[in-house]
Amino acid sequence: MAAASHKNITAAEVRAAVNNAYEEVRNASGGTNASYIPYLAQVDPNLFGITVCLLDGTLISVGDSAHTFGIESVSKVPTAILAMREYGAVDILEKVGADATGLPFNSIMALLLEKDRPSSPLVNAGAIAACSLVEPVGDADAKWKAITSNIRELTGTEPEVIQELYQSESGCDYNNRSIAWLLKSYGRIYDDPDLSLDLYTRQCSLGTTTEQLAIMGATIANDGFNPVTNTQVFDPDLAPKVTSMITTVGFYERTGDWLYRSGIPAKSGVGGGVLGVMPGMFGIAAFSPPLDEAGNSVKAQLAIRHIMHELGLNIFAASRLCVCQCTPTRER
Ligand code: GLU
Repeated sequence: MAAASHKNITAAEVRAAVNNAYEEVRNASGGTNASYIPYLAQVDPNLFGITVCLLDGTLISVGDSAHTFGIESVSKVPTAILAMREYGAVDILEKVGADATGLPFNSIMALLLEKDRPSSPLVNAGAIAACSLVEPVGDADAKWKAITSNIRELTGTEPEVIQELYQSESGCDYNNRSIAWLLKSYGRIYDDPDLSLDLYTRQCSLGTTTEQLAIMGATIANDGFNPVTNTQVFDPDLAPKVTSMITTVGFYERTGDWLYRSGIPAKSGVGGGVLGVMPGMFGIAAFSPPLDEAGNSVKAQLAIRHIMHELGLNIFAASRLCVCQCTPTRER
């Protein structure tokens, strides 16, 4: 039996795959903008961008890669990292959990079924719990600074709230309010519920670009070392932990289908962004507002799948035990 052949992917091959994905997917139809948050309903549905960030810091972008859009649930990833940086991976497993729910992102049922733990920081309940954990407990301004500083370290850019989105989302967050207070009744929220919910809503309203998200993905793929700013942002041991969370619940109730078809752990947001992590190889992000019924961007999914297939990559394939030519050697 032949041994699995190891893959060497060049930057030129990645660039070609990104351009081909863009051309193939740009005219795809299907999906609608999220409408339960009024701001998102009126975003131009034709916006479409893709970025890959290689582990030597090279950015490969096409389309509206510099357009700022609402980060939404992709913000759950950096705050999960922040909570783990502050408390350690073991404590976060105990306090929040790391399980898939198999249910929609804002499911109250998931919380009821789990009895107490919110399951994962990458669903709404767990993300609100993660915001409640951020230090220093009780100080909303200082907590917010910690959340945004962490994102700046992961992306290299200071994130800014899209005020219109924040107002829009704060005016219709009744479901999340219920989750926050249910967590309180279970003793699974670690700060004031309203304060924690507001931080969560604010972080979902941050503006981002595919370039920034791809850098964040590359930092996770690179064991916590940001290849653009050349800084070690978090303990390398946390990288597989957060990637495991992205793997199990990144697409909510469609996570299994996504992994089966794409071969890459990725986290979606109802703003139309998707952040993918290919450990040891690259971070990838795509953005297009129209979503499928589960709240995942239709074109972003197609584009990332195309790139993975064209490059012949799959996180579960033996051939991924590669030395990517794009991977720099570095000292830690
Ligand atoms: N802010 C959104 C909510 O809580 C995020 C949902 C998502 O992006 O999946 O409803």
